[in-house]
Amino acid sequence: MLRFDPVPGLAEGGFRGRGLRGDPPLPDPAVAVRLGQVHGVRVAAAEGAGSIPETDGVVTRVPGLLLTVRTADCLPVILAAPKDGVGLVHAGWRGLAAGVLEAAVARFARPGALRAVLGPAIGPCCFEVGPEVAARFPEAVRPRRPRPHVDLWAVAAARLRAAGLPPEAIHVSGICTRCHQHLLHSHRGSGGGPGRIVAFAAAGTSAHEQEA
Ligand SMILES: [Zn+2]
Repeated sequence: MLRFDPVPGLAEGGFRGRGLRGDPPLPDPAVAVRLGQVHGVRVAAAEGAGSIPETDGVVTRVPGLLLTVRTADCLPVILAAPKDGVGLVHAGWRGLAAGVLEAAVARFARPGALRAVLGPAIGPCCFEVGPEVAARFPEAVRPRRPRPHVDLWAVAAARLRAAGLPPEAIHVSGICTRCHQHLLHSHRGSGGGPGRIVAFAAAGTSAHEQEA
């Protein structure tokens, strides 16, 4: 379990690998929001627990409502701002290219007040891509032989900065899923196995008071 509290307003957030010993169970599904992820750009606003189909990002201002996304090499991104709630995004290369992060940031009143945590994902050490994917992210390609590699964290951070987040507000975990399969599930590393990482985030109430 990787937990953090990077900003007032975020009651809880983190990443949990599948089958880790000694980890606490995930909170009650009755208070959780699940997404039917499709590598798209739709971002929903959640008012209560339940499943939201065909959606790759979710925001809420409801204290204690647990947002979740599932990944296995794709990048989970947590957004949080004091008094403006939290968001959670499933961002693989398709979603990043299509603008899912920009769509999520647009859900918040003040992008400049947001903080972001870029979670574990397949790193530039391991994310080997074909020329058609590399061509979409020229700013984040690392030339390697025989095939180029892409840095999804760099892509996401650049998109968030362009959307108005201060550079110092963007926290990159730098944890490659494929290099850390003892902790986290990797789609590529497992040959397409069924495991997932669950990223979660919930807004708190105390932060509203702190910022008032
Ligand atoms: Zn790696």
